[in-house]
Amino acid sequence: MGSRMGKRTSLGLRIGRRRVVWGMLKSGDPETGSPPMLKHSFSSVKDFAGCARRFHQVRILKRFKSEATDATLYGERVHKAFELYLTQDTPLPEDLARHKTLLDQLRATGREIHCEKKLGVTATFEPCDFFAENVWFRGIPDLLMLNAERTTAWIGDWKTGKSARFADTSQLELMAALVMAHYPTVQRVRGMLAFVVAGTTVSAAYTRDQLPEIWSKWIGQVDRIAQALGNDVWNASPSGLCRFCPVTKDACEHR
Ligand code: SF4
Repeated sequence: MGSRMGKRTSLGLRIGRRRVVWGMLKSGDPETGSPPMLKHSFSSVKDFAGCARRFHQVRILKRFKSEATDATLYGERVHKAFELYLTQDTPLPEDLARHKTLLDQLRATGREIHCEKKLGVTATFEPCDFFAENVWFRGIPDLLMLNAERTTAWIGDWKTGKSARFADTSQLELMAALVMAHYPTVQRVRGMLAFVVAGTTVSAAYTRDQLPEIWSKWIGQVDRIAQALGNDVWNASPSGLCRFCPVTKDACEHR
């Protein structure tokens, strides 16, 4: 049973690697002078799925930049305050003091704690520096905790939206895969989206034998970006989010 599982796992990874190589060829290779390989993250893949036109204009051409909003600034402030409290014992600002109980519970576990740890993997799923030339997927878990043996990891993502209605655990899945790449002894990752304003959490758990399945899914998403790049077709997807979009009329007919 164990060896069958191992065989299936390595087969899955082999298939995955072939597909990644195809994706790299479609999106270019710096050595041959074609455009540089795209670097992906949960937010970039989500952006593409939301609107390929915006993705192209903002992330590839860099013609427009999303402006900070009150909501994003508040989110950044919460992330920083939690990081400083967990890693340097810096007191929480008064308006965030109500979160002390949750953070104290995390600290009381005695686990090794990392905040905002930058993780990257190459297109062959090797761990690499977040800023490496050949980084393929990147992620930054807000919270990463490891047990003493480093066999189990916990990841947390702070959400400052008012509702958990559209909670998307695929972000945890991607972070779990990145953590398992960087910590080869970790066999299981438990993830939590902590909606600190709404006062609720959404959890998920992943094991190492799910890695081929997880990466296959993300390769599928990245393939769609490579295809758009290869064909230079960036369809617009108008939605309620258009009102927050920085793209102007000359680049999108839906403005
Ligand atoms: S205005 Fe809407 S459809 Fe146009 S690029 Fe922005 S998000 Fe996409």
